[in-house]
Amino acid sequence: MSQLSAYQSGLKEHNLAYELLKRKLRTSIVRQIIKILRPKDLRYIYYSIHKERPISGVIPSVEAIAQTRESFLYMALFASIYRSASRVDIKTNMDINAIVFAWDYFCNMFPGHIRERRPYGRIRPANFDEAWVITHAMKAGSADLQYCSGCRRNYFIIYCTNYPPICQICAMKNGGVRKGRPN
Ligand SMILES: [Zn+2]
Repeated sequence: MSQLSAYQSGLKEHNLAYELLKRKLRTSIVRQIIKILRPKDLRYIYYSIHKERPISGVIPSVEAIAQTRESFLYMALFASIYRSASRVDIKTNMDINAIVFAWDYFCNMFPGHIRERRPYGRIRPANFDEAWVITHAMKAGSADLQYCSGCRRNYFIIYCTNYPPICQICAMKNGGVRKGRPN
């Protein structure tokens, strides 16, 4: 690699790190993508932007995100935006630029309504960590976006939850029994 192209790729990674940390992606996830910055550097950048320490602890699981049937409608919306924006096969890859685009677009649709921290509202993903986890689950095969011929919309499913893998819009219309813990 020439000096210039090394510099350019370094700059690109720095820029991506900034874009991810600006959206409060936890540093343990950023570390998986950005190799040229040390964990200490990532935490420093995070602190410089937000004037607070980055969130630590276990990365949420996709199963834990879905607590109400209504949340599935929002997750379907987010996942649809992500899939439309993506330039790769999202079942085998993650498209970082598309995740950023979908999250920004999703936030713009509900300004002031997304509760970023506990207690969360029905709108999920509630933060960029959750957005990341959802797209990762779609790649890993533990979640999927499918088309409902009944209401002609996309619906979101997560395998291994209390919610059966059916269209939640149609289930609500048909007065299906509410499952899972109340939010
Ligand atoms: Zn449906």
